Amino acid sequence: AAKSDSDSGYRLYDANLKDPRAERRALEGALRSAHENRELELFYQPILDIATNRMWGCEALVRWKHPTKGMILPLQFITAAEESGLIGPIGDWILEEACRTAMTWPLPLAVAVNLSPVQFRSRDVFASVRQALDASGLPARRLILEITESVRLTEEATATLRRLKALGVSIALDDFGTGYASMSYLSSFPFDKIKIDQSFVRAMMDSPDSRAIIKATISLANDLKMSTTAEGVETEEQLAALRQAGASQAQGYLIAKPMPRDAIAAFIAEAQNAQQGMRDDQAPAR
Ligand code: C2E
Ligand code: MG
Ligand code: MG
Ligand code: MG
Repeated sequence: AAKSDSDSGYRLYDANLKDPRAERRALEGALRSAHENRELELFYQPILDIATNRMWGCEALVRWKHPTKGMILPLQFITAAEESGLIGPIGDWILEEACRTAMTWPLPLAVAVNLSPVQFRSRDVFASVRQALDASGLPARRLILEITESVRLTEEATATLRRLKALGVSIALDDFGTGYASMSYLSSFPFDKIKIDQSFVRAMMDSPDSRAIIKATISLANDLKMSTTAEGVETEEQLAALRQAGASQAQGYLIAKPMPRDAIAAFIAEAQNAQQGMRDDQAPAR
């Protein structure tokens, strides 16, 4: 039977290949040359500070600009990158590229970078992050690292996260509420931020249960001195409800879709102008 689209990477290179392992090798080979040929590119999605209505930061999201297949999304190749070990060098490149790009922005906004569990197992993540900060000159406080429950919080991983926090980097728990052990996970490390998964946001206007889960998550985060970002915000109604519920930040197509490096610089410059305008309007006449 044909595999579904959600079977990710396998679909990309299955055209003439019957053996799944051969397919996977073909994908890995293509990914290796993609990295070498600089076909990977970071897009950036704005994150809004709900209380002030100003830009808070951006999340870096990797894309593969394939010369013949067009743009390939991360869910189709991250697993192959992880299984082949390529996520090591690719992940290091993503960290440094995101930090360098954030240094070029007209406002000193935060940049969030996703980390794979494999980077924790096979890589000195601390060294990679410090290298990215040193090479780019980005102040550590502007960097947020996003991890999911798929990162096993062993003693070693927790120690690494603590060292990163000591550097000034923030740690966010991504896709909160979708894993098997969200509560125990939350208790095993002092995260700075919880990202509320988009599945709850998508359901919130129709489902009182989803609204209740969002409210409880925000209240829990507040008690634990963590901030909250709601993901997948697509409508004004959702944003208003999230503001009412006390979420700190919003991210989603309502604010903007992920965009390339040049477009995000223009987007931030425009936000800067708008914010400058606001400040001038509010300044007392002299
Ligand atoms: P994530 O970290 O939870 O990223 C949010 C995903 O939601 C992104 O998908 C983004 O494009 C999408 N999104 C944002 N706003 C909306 C919205 O309003 N509606 C809908 N329907 N979707 C929205 P994307 O870029 O395809 O990335 C998917 C996942 O791939 C990410 O989920 C993250 O887990 C992983 N990923 C992306 N970039 C990287 C990376 O550089 N390194 C690693 N290790 N993983 C990455
Ligand atoms: Mg993320
Ligand atoms: Mg997420
Ligand atoms: Mg996700």
